[in-house]
Amino acid sequence: MGENIIPLVDWRQDLPLPDPLAGAAGPLADRLGRPLHDLRISVTDRCNFRCSYCMPKEVFDHQYKFLPHSSLLSFEEITRLARVFVGLGVRKLRLTGGEPLLRKNVEGLVEQLAALRAPDGSALDLTLTTNGSLLERKAVALQRAGLRRVTVSLDALDDAVFRRMNDVDFPVADVLRGVDAALAAGLAPIKINMVVKRGTNDHEIVPLARHLRERYGAAVVLRCIEFMDVGATNGWRMDEVLPSAEVVERLSAVFPLEPLEPNAVGETAQRWRYRDGGGEFGVISSVTRAFCRDCNRARLSTEGRLFMCLFASRGHDLRALLRGEADDARIGATIAAIWNQRDDRYSELRGAAGPGGPAGARRVEMHYIGG
Ligand code: SF4
Repeated sequence: MGENIIPLVDWRQDLPLPDPLAGAAGPLADRLGRPLHDLRISVTDRCNFRCSYCMPKEVFDHQYKFLPHSSLLSFEEITRLARVFVGLGVRKLRLTGGEPLLRKNVEGLVEQLAALRAPDGSALDLTLTTNGSLLERKAVALQRAGLRRVTVSLDALDDAVFRRMNDVDFPVADVLRGVDAALAAGLAPIKINMVVKRGTNDHEIVPLARHLRERYGAAVVLRCIEFMDVGATNGWRMDEVLPSAEVVERLSAVFPLEPLEPNAVGETAQRWRYRDGGGEFGVISSVTRAFCRDCNRARLSTEGRLFMCLFASRGHDLRALLRGEADDARIGATIAAIWNQRDDRYSELRGAAGPGGPAGARRVEMHYIGG
């Protein structure tokens, strides 16, 4: 059987870099008037889990060819790009992957990014999304390097259900020990992201919420995420989506909830508060309640391709600029021109197009550009 090669993105079809002078004057905004505020940085395409909604084992098996280290952006290149993005208005950096804690000495990158400042001298909002498998070991080093908070993916309380979602033999208890270590190290608040697949783990919503309330109280916020048609390999079906409205209804029947205002424009989660003061809960509803209208997020792939949407098919290669003659001003102007042209709103269009979503090219895989 030949090597298992899934084209992450068709390199031959990188989007052409716009003329850096084409950027519009005035505050940076895309075609829908959205500012650039968040940058998600994928630091590796590798992961030690095989979550069925992101990297299904049948596709990403032992023959799968991950990116060679030489093609990854170095920490210095990532930091240089992040500095340019901050100059364009970015105030929040999220490190993702694959599993970012698999990238060797990632705390060294955290240290470099934590030293960046907004033009007014204020610190950036620097966070990281992890599956928690290495968090117990890394929490103190990450905090010392300057990380302030962390998001942990955890799709069930029951080990067998957890295994059905992530397809590896990793106990929930070890992920929770990572959360304990992160809290003890001072990383807070901690968000727990649970991707809900109807018929697989939706019966775990209440038990997981109960356990987290009892174990951590308000220090940990559970967010349930609707199963999304990201990439082209996760076999997405609408009948496996449990709408967030139903999630809230189910949980509120056990732990009454009341709605909260968003923390900031562009926040992906709808926030709720337990009426009994037991903390917060959130839902992220890309399928049934699209939030493209305020989407202020850009995504940087592991080897320097810039994507305008989680459901994009093609990106712009910034690595060529980084490793070529371009200075920061030229790179900044190019990114500004890219953002100016942005009109992505896939989730809104999906809703309009109905099951199967809008027709279009193959979507990029989530483990490559970060969730
Ligand atoms: S679908 Fe794309 S444009 Fe819409 S919220 Fe998600 S990333 Fe943003």
